[in-house]
Amino acid sequence: MADGQEDAQALGFDPTALRQKYRQERDKRLREEGNEQYIEVKGDFAHFLDDPYAEPGFTRDPLFDEVEVVLVGGGFGGLLAGARLRQAGIEDIRIIDPASDFGGTWYWNRYPGAQCDTASMIYMPLLEETGHMPSEKYAHAPEILEQCQRIGRQYGLYDNALFHTEVEDLSWEEAQSRWMIRTNRGDAFTASFIGLGTGPLHVPKLPGIPGIEDFKGHAFHTSRWDYDYTGGDPRGGLMEKLADKRVAIIGTGATSVQAVPHLARACQTLYVVQRTPSSVDVRANAPIDPEWFKSVAEPGWQQRWLENFTANQGGNITEVDLVMDGWTDLSRRIRSRINELPPEDRTPFKMLAAFEDSDFEKMEEIRARVDSIVADTETAQKLKAWYRQLCKRPCFHDAYLQAFNTPGTHLVDTDGKGVEAITEKGFVVAGVEYEVDCIIYASGFEVGTPFEQRAGFDLTGRGGLKLSEAWAEGMKSLHGIHVRDFPNAFFVQPTQGANLISNIPHNLTESGRTIAMTIRHALDVGAKEVEVTPEAQAAWVDLLLTGMGRMLGAPDCTPGYYNNEGQDPGPAAQLNVGYPQGASAFFKYIDGWRASGAFEGLTFR
Ligand code: NDP
Repeated sequence: MADGQEDAQALGFDPTALRQKYRQERDKRLREEGNEQYIEVKGDFAHFLDDPYAEPGFTRDPLFDEVEVVLVGGGFGGLLAGARLRQAGIEDIRIIDPASDFGGTWYWNRYPGAQCDTASMIYMPLLEETGHMPSEKYAHAPEILEQCQRIGRQYGLYDNALFHTEVEDLSWEEAQSRWMIRTNRGDAFTASFIGLGTGPLHVPKLPGIPGIEDFKGHAFHTSRWDYDYTGGDPRGGLMEKLADKRVAIIGTGATSVQAVPHLARACQTLYVVQRTPSSVDVRANAPIDPEWFKSVAEPGWQQRWLENFTANQGGNITEVDLVMDGWTDLSRRIRSRINELPPEDRTPFKMLAAFEDSDFEKMEEIRARVDSIVADTETAQKLKAWYRQLCKRPCFHDAYLQAFNTPGTHLVDTDGKGVEAITEKGFVVAGVEYEVDCIIYASGFEVGTPFEQRAGFDLTGRGGLKLSEAWAEGMKSLHGIHVRDFPNAFFVQPTQGANLISNIPHNLTESGRTIAMTIRHALDVGAKEVEVTPEAQAAWVDLLLTGMGRMLGAPDCTPGYYNNEGQDPGPAAQLNVGYPQGASAFFKYIDGWRASGAFEGLTFR
């Protein structure tokens, strides 16, 4: 027998055949236009951004006052920075957000079935501080939105908040050492310090399908769910108005996976239009038992859980895996494969091969799961994902695949090509027109577009320097928070810090701590300006470049937003990385940085 055949027999799958299949499936999806295939939601499409939850007719007078701290963004980023600032005794805080309430992602994403993909115990921030017990292992969106509101109330962040307000300009006023903030409501006020929690995945995008503007039926994006049209509610109430409707949902990413079971239950006819299938593993959601929670909720419990998850998902396996979910399972499998290698065989090559085998094994299980659930064999075949698990956002759901057994629910697979055209009456795939009453775009959010495009403004720092100029060759910062020439400005986001993608709130919780402590110190020593030194920023950037590079989205993956749609993202993307030793090591490092009280790398004057 040839070597490959022996391998295949021992492993239970054929790595060579799988590699080839993955390559074929990727190649047919590659598009030269990369990110350009998507349409920016503006101009004729601007109505796709209308806020279905806004207070109608909201007005207020513009403000021209002075504030201590302005936080742009009322999602987790702004809220966590705000909460930590309050804990540090800083009262004069103003959060600004275009929405009519706090919540960010969880304000906008109220589509049916929305829930966190990372366990509530670690995903929902400040549970210990607010005394809230999550109701489920993976809480649904309304509960997460309520947690945002709870944080807002508990830390007094509603008092001075400006909702329905978009920042249009942020400029450093050298003479006063203050930031000038201008908004779409005519405000022009100043702040000693600003925090930017503008979010990573918040600008909806539409697929650039020919004829998209021609559709005469109803259409909306999943992040602006139109319950007036569908009936039902974000808590999962039946969308009764769809009972006589033919509906298409375009896209089968993490959002669609959660929404489809609810649509299948409600629509007369549902077309799930697929370009690339998601990998959909077991979810195993369950209610949280209050008795169990009581036994867990000892002082400091959430920090312990956060650290335990971060360690386990990063491969630093601990004896007890507190969260036990798909993320930590993935790491454990890889680690145990590597541990099976005799010590003399633990070369980088063999370790990567063990990683690949563990991935093949997992993906084979996920594909077998499709067969075990989906009754129609042709549909099942089309729902199988042919790529490595981390090529795309891994999904977990216990009702998505089952939805394809519902009468009236049809998978329209485009064999990687995407929808051919949208017409007045519906959509076209492989030359067939499907007439529908409603098209729901589950087409995701802008990723990889410049910061100023996603934020909606370009910061002007010292000497008129724009952030877009400072970052023309890529992001440069200290810890992902401080940027040279942008004094008293703090970024609340994961890149160039821990870069922990599987649990973004952990990054934000830690950034909030660092920012609050830094501002507190500036006030205590009477400093008007805090700024990173050029040397400290350069040294941090150099350190980041010593790492293994971007962990997600290898260029040989099937295209998606993890790998810039399969196109070379250019040299600047090299800097979209985290601490070389990983997330746990970063959190330890930043804890030590804070504890030293030296604020190494920053100047206060
Ligand atoms: P995605 O970007 O993941 O998915 C967009 C979908 O639209 C893909 O299936 C894509 O296909 C498809 N698509 C794009 N263009 C076309 C076209 N022309 N024809 C047909 N299909 C097309 O967006 P999501 O909103 O699903 O998810 C975005 C991210 O938001 C997630 O990855 C996750 O990080 C986050 N999220 C988190 C959740 C949670 O934690 N609970 C829940 C939901 C989302 P293709 O794959 O081929 O590009």
